[in-house]
Amino acid sequence: MSIRWRLTLWYSLMVGLTLLLFGVGLYFYMEHELTSEIDLSISAKAEEVLKTITVVDRYPLPIEQVQLPDVNVFATPNTYLQVVDRNGRILARSNNLGRQALPKSGYPDDGASLAQGYFETADTGEQRLRIYNQPLIWRGQMVGLLQVGRSMQPADLALNRLRLVLAFMGTVTVGLAATLGWVLARAVLKPIDRITNTAAAIQEAEDLERKLLYEGPDDEIGRLTRTFNAMLERLKGAYLRLAEAHDAQRRFVADASHELRTPLTTIRGNVELLQKMGDTQPEVRKEALADIASESERMSRLIHELLALARADTGQNLERRLTPLHELLGEVIRSARHLSDQVRFEPDEDLTSEPIWVMGSHDYLKQLFLILIENGMKYTPSGGEVRLSVQHREGQVGVSVIDTGIGIPAEELPHIFERFYRVDQARFGEGSGLGLSIAQWIVEQHDGKIEVESVPGEGSRFTVWLRELTLG
Ligand code: ADP
Repeated sequence: MSIRWRLTLWYSLMVGLTLLLFGVGLYFYMEHELTSEIDLSISAKAEEVLKTITVVDRYPLPIEQVQLPDVNVFATPNTYLQVVDRNGRILARSNNLGRQALPKSGYPDDGASLAQGYFETADTGEQRLRIYNQPLIWRGQMVGLLQVGRSMQPADLALNRLRLVLAFMGTVTVGLAATLGWVLARAVLKPIDRITNTAAAIQEAEDLERKLLYEGPDDEIGRLTRTFNAMLERLKGAYLRLAEAHDAQRRFVADASHELRTPLTTIRGNVELLQKMGDTQPEVRKEALADIASESERMSRLIHELLALARADTGQNLERRLTPLHELLGEVIRSARHLSDQVRFEPDEDLTSEPIWVMGSHDYLKQLFLILIENGMKYTPSGGEVRLSVQHREGQVGVSVIDTGIGIPAEELPHIFERFYRVDQARFGEGSGLGLSIAQWIVEQHDGKIEVESVPGEGSRFTVWLRELTLG
């Protein structure tokens, strides 16, 4: 059953119940009021009659006789009077009773209520009668009973009519309430319907650009719409990021296979050359073998880098621990000294003298600095130099690799950290364009920052900023 139906049903039920309660209350109140009014009038009438009744002794008869007034004087078209003696014999009755008599119930038998009048309701079949019975007491003895009756027909008629009116009005009101409830429920649920439809359309068309349009107050529906739109926005963001990641992955695989194919082609060509003329021409053989050696070295380096990036892509985090950066830089300096014969390597004097502590991965940090130093040497013509220096700023330690090399044009700077990106592929043969991508990933994993300043023709400065720990 839909919410709309349930709302309507509940609403109608509530209205119906309220009306029923109200109707029943009103009915009983009216009945009570009408009966009280009759009771009041007949007891007053009895009082009136009682005042005129006298009892006389008629000797020698031993029975007490009641001297009755003419009861007709007191009767009105709706009020009947009757006097009976203690044996139930009718002593007098008003003419309007005709041949009929007021029904007599048993006398009250307890002495206390003897003197008091009492009411009863009798049903004659045609109508109901309200009767007031007033015992007649003489010398402590009950000698008879004065009965004043009054038809309840007018009251019953009024009550009947009230019942009819209540039933009719009740039904009409509940019907109206149901209709109103149905319309209201529709108005309230309409925005929800719209949300459902939009959600369904988005799902079918896979269109995350769509939004729910809502112009109204910031009520429950307004909040639902806002939340729904926010969710769509986030979904869109996540979807875009996923698509981007997927694209990047595809590009990466394509580039990687392309990069791997080039050295393989060279190796295959050289092998063929060896097969053909390797025996006869020792010169060719020497060159071919040298080519094969350098190409396989390039390939293994490439594969090594690709593996590092693939590992980075799986989203695993580096394991970081308290690392003495000064000692690590000492190792880096020792490794870098033999990297090049043409370019001088000049680490600053006091680089390793004072302790510097960072949270990091020893091996990856070493790889990071070596990538930067290697690049510096690679892109610096012979005779130039590569410096290594350290600075401190606002709780951070900055390690700079400064070269006097060819530099990077400003418009290329935003791209150099992209995978497989090389500024001018023709300039230097070595390199895959992956080094800086790996360097950047390592820096990100350390919550650090990498800065580049470069002037083409003069040199470049790569600075890695890491958070420095002060050990107490
Ligand atoms: P590669 O294997 O080509 O060195 P990297 O990712 O390490 O790949 O560097 C990307 C590109 O950025 C390089 O191809 C080069 O053009 C440029 N680059 C990197 N470091 C320097 C530097 N110290 N001086 C000049 N150019 C550099």
